[in-house]
Amino acid sequence: MTSPYPHLLEPLDLGHTTLRNRVIMGSMHTGLEDRAKHLPELAAYFGERAKGGVALSVTGGYAPNWHGWLLPFGSLMTSARLADKHRIVTDAVHEHDGKIVMQLLHAGRYGYHPFKRAASTKKSPITPFGSPKAMSTKEVDRTVDDFAASARLARRAGYDGVEIMGSEGYLINQMLTARTNDRTDRWGGSAENRMRFPVEIVDRVRQAVGDDFIVMYRMSLLDLVDDAQSWDETVELAQKVEAAGVSIINTGIGWHEARIPTIVTSVPRGAFSWVTGKLRPEVSVPVVASNRINTPEVAEQIIASGEADLVSMARPLLSDPYFVTKAAEDRADEINTCIACNQACLDHTFVNKRATCMINPRAGHETTLVLSPTRTAKRIAVVGAGPAGLAAATELSGRGHTVDLFEALPEVGGQFRLAMQIPGKEEFKETIRYYSRRMEINGVTVHLGTRVGADELAGFDEVVVATGVEPRLPSIPGVDHPSVVTYQDVIRGRAPVGRTVAVVGAGGIGFDVSEFLLHEPDESLDHWNERWGVTDPALERGGLATKVQAPPRREVFLLQRKSTELGKGLGKTSGWVHRQTLKDSGVHMLKGVTYDRIDDAGLHVTIATGKDSSESRVLEVETIVLCTGQESVRDLVEPLEALGRPVHVIGGADVAAELDAKRAIKQATELAARL
Ligand code: NAP
Repeated sequence: MTSPYPHLLEPLDLGHTTLRNRVIMGSMHTGLEDRAKHLPELAAYFGERAKGGVALSVTGGYAPNWHGWLLPFGSLMTSARLADKHRIVTDAVHEHDGKIVMQLLHAGRYGYHPFKRAASTKKSPITPFGSPKAMSTKEVDRTVDDFAASARLARRAGYDGVEIMGSEGYLINQMLTARTNDRTDRWGGSAENRMRFPVEIVDRVRQAVGDDFIVMYRMSLLDLVDDAQSWDETVELAQKVEAAGVSIINTGIGWHEARIPTIVTSVPRGAFSWVTGKLRPEVSVPVVASNRINTPEVAEQIIASGEADLVSMARPLLSDPYFVTKAAEDRADEINTCIACNQACLDHTFVNKRATCMINPRAGHETTLVLSPTRTAKRIAVVGAGPAGLAAATELSGRGHTVDLFEALPEVGGQFRLAMQIPGKEEFKETIRYYSRRMEINGVTVHLGTRVGADELAGFDEVVVATGVEPRLPSIPGVDHPSVVTYQDVIRGRAPVGRTVAVVGAGGIGFDVSEFLLHEPDESLDHWNERWGVTDPALERGGLATKVQAPPRREVFLLQRKSTELGKGLGKTSGWVHRQTLKDSGVHMLKGVTYDRIDDAGLHVTIATGKDSSESRVLEVETIVLCTGQESVRDLVEPLEALGRPVHVIGGADVAAELDAKRAIKQATELAARL
């Protein structure tokens, strides 16, 4: 059979070793790195990805000394004792013919602890604990040695190489730019001096590990902050680290403090591969493209077009460890495609919780959430085909149970079918495709357009109720006025929406609906770059240009009763993107609102203006969209219990207050593992 992805699956000869294909699992700090007791779980996590065909995995970041910690008592590689404990990880990967490199990361001013050291005392805008201490000249030199010592230890631990983390705004980036490096010694003052730190690191690491060891350098190709490197400097650095002995140059995009989204769902697929393509002709070592590459088609196209030699994916291999095998076997339609939601991976990392995956709750929990074939196959009914019902039906049937899935609507997907209509959230359709395909393979009988009653379920051994939610109707006088519609009506296109709109309720759905009302779906990469102010770094340092906004399609008022800032409860790593998008579109965000009444004049509100003051206003809007949360739909539960059936209530039908796909899918998967 000819390979559907010939470039992606082609081996790459690095001289002393060969990578079996072009897929790198990029670094993701899972939280399993920080304690030696979690190394067996880390081994299972990387072992499964190697089994699934990944050529080269990169660990989460390990600091070369404790001043470079990400977190207090975070991951370090500073002793032979620590290194020897990592054998379990490297063996697990080698057992499946994969390769693995350890990422060496010094957090610099991004460290979440008071002992951090950096290029200067300039404080990070995104990190607590005040200013870092500036390293002395000698300390910088010692830090270079620490990188080399850690690399030697990584070799001792059985790693195939190291990745030197030189992007995303960590210490190496901080040393490289005038933005953060105001030193006057040999490590600062001129671009050449600023480059000395990474070049010396690569040089001393190479000397420490010998020639037969992978040294990958993750280079910031687009800083997306002010006072960044120029493109000429970036190219010069790439050539210098190549001369110093790197085997591969990986791509990093944007410092963590950049205010341009680089990985969330609304970033177009492969949005930054052009920058890697710009660097590739300047060096002779292989280069890696990264960011929002989530399908074999996109990856193949990037390599086939000559933009890169390899692709790096992290989250897509959390969501599906068997991505490569499925691609190789022409089963790409079975891949659980990463939808870049960040809800269970990066949002967890940033609050110091173990990273997993919303659509694959097994990620990082491979040893405890096990879906083995059942020994007693049962007949199981799943009612409701939203994320919870789909996950339950898929995993139950995967274990060998006979599953019937009932859905009242003519199609599966539930809230995800609404989410995929939101501009920038089109990826959500992939999850529906994934579950549908797996259910087809597993032989689930799907009954669409079927509102099933308790009596019809009496013959099943178990019933899973995943009937989801319905929009909450708030008790505002006049809520039955013809100008009032629910978010479901709007997204499904069942209700016309005027040019002026009040969106009542500013949770995730209020934000989503506002975006739906303001923007066209499927915008081009050029338009996206213009909207966020991303440009060629050869034109502007760091690739930062002035944003160009298209005029919004509507005037939108987004309202909530709470007096906190709107959007506070949105995802840690994605919420700011939604807030910025609405701000850039001129949305009026009103907090501390009391809804007085709705009539022909519009929405009458009282807005708190101070502790004891308020003002009354009429928002003269044509349409009022209710996004005021949800109520569980659980009509089936009581009649089923009365029939004496074992009933399991999951997802929004269980808890609507936290309507949340992460919880729904996890709950469904854990139930499936138990039944
Ligand atoms: P939500 O987050 O609970 O927000 C409901 C909003 O309605 C709140 O702003 C609430 O704020 C207001 N509200 C609640 N009861 C009300 C009432 N009786 N009268 C007037 N206002 C009322 O619910 P959601 O927006 O429907 O989202 C549900 C969940 O979906 C989220 O928690 C999230 O897990 C998920 N989701 C997330 C995203 C995202 O992060 N981008 C997008 C979509 C969905 P006040 O009480 O202050 O008015």
